Amino acid sequence: MSDRVIPIAEARYQPLPLPEPRALEYRAQPVDLRARPMHDLRISVTDRCNFRCTYCMPKEVFGRDYPFLPQSSLLSFEEITRLAQAFVRLGVRKLRLTGGEPLLRKQLDRLVSQLAQISTPEGGALDLTLTTNGSLLERHARALRDAGLGRVTVSLDALDDAIFKRMNDADYPVADVLRGIDAALAAGLTGLKVNMVVQRGVNDAQVIPMAQHFRGTGVTLRFIEYMDVGSTNGWRMNEVLPSRELIERLSSVWPIEPLNRDYRGEVAERWRYVDGAGEIGVISSVTQAFCGDCTRARLSTEGRLYLCLFAQQGYDLRELVRDARVTPEQLSDTVAAIWAARRDNYSELRSANSASGQKIEMSYIGG
Ligand code: SF4
Repeated sequence: MSDRVIPIAEARYQPLPLPEPRALEYRAQPVDLRARPMHDLRISVTDRCNFRCTYCMPKEVFGRDYPFLPQSSLLSFEEITRLAQAFVRLGVRKLRLTGGEPLLRKQLDRLVSQLAQISTPEGGALDLTLTTNGSLLERHARALRDAGLGRVTVSLDALDDAIFKRMNDADYPVADVLRGIDAALAAGLTGLKVNMVVQRGVNDAQVIPMAQHFRGTGVTLRFIEYMDVGSTNGWRMNEVLPSRELIERLSSVWPIEPLNRDYRGEVAERWRYVDGAGEIGVISSVTQAFCGDCTRARLSTEGRLYLCLFAQQGYDLRELVRDARVTPEQLSDTVAAIWAARRDNYSELRSANSASGQKIEMSYIGG
């Protein structure tokens, strides 16, 4: 075992106690202790992945004997849908399916079609999207689109095969992901985004080639600062390429200009090429914390509610959703009470060097 990876404690098994449901007056649109509403729900449908990205799921920890969740403990599609309805009642307007690698979950299009039936209290459609490593997308894109998926975000950290394989640590070639992207676009999954985690000294030399590749394609490329997610990736600040520096690199090749965020809580800072070749984004959780506008809740694949990507513990909603006596309103009221007591702001604490504790793994609650 290399010196950079530390064993993890099974923090995921110690849920926080559920608060008393707060009925009625919160049902409209609960806000947390920093007046942040709930807008996005990220739903992890599996804790498994076919990649072993070194910054997320290092092979040394997530090896052959790793205790992944048994099938029986996973929420069924019906339970996920019931919970999603409870969150939509409280103001959630965007559902993102994540993992692990969500396309490993069998018949995922069945879940997509169930979620696509949910409309907002105003009768509107939800923004239904999915984040994938793209390696299985070529096979599933059409069925997901037909089931009602609106958009897809693909993680791709390099175009150079050797660098990409070193980072996914599972010998997957770039070509598989690029074919997946083409299949998604062909299936009509427009508004496609590509997320690149940039690690100084590992793949930062790929920033310009990646930008060159996606310019003029209609695909939005977003650069993510390397983060200390979970407790296993041996994160070091000197491997972070600050977005400021990345923007300087890009604008030294192509003139770019800033754009406004689409909505409160949008994670990416948006930029566009002055020559009209499209848009890029930067996600700067390390150097420019955006907790003040964080409107994201996360549901693990076994029904735990987490209020931050860097949380240490969550709330077990599985028993509630499996209890036939619990009404949809009671489910919403419990979620409302949990959210109303939220004060999470890990990235701000990190910036103030006062962050501590064993964090839950990103591969378990989704990025
Ligand atoms: S660190 Fe937590 S609270 Fe802050 S933006 Fe990220 S998920 Fe939200």
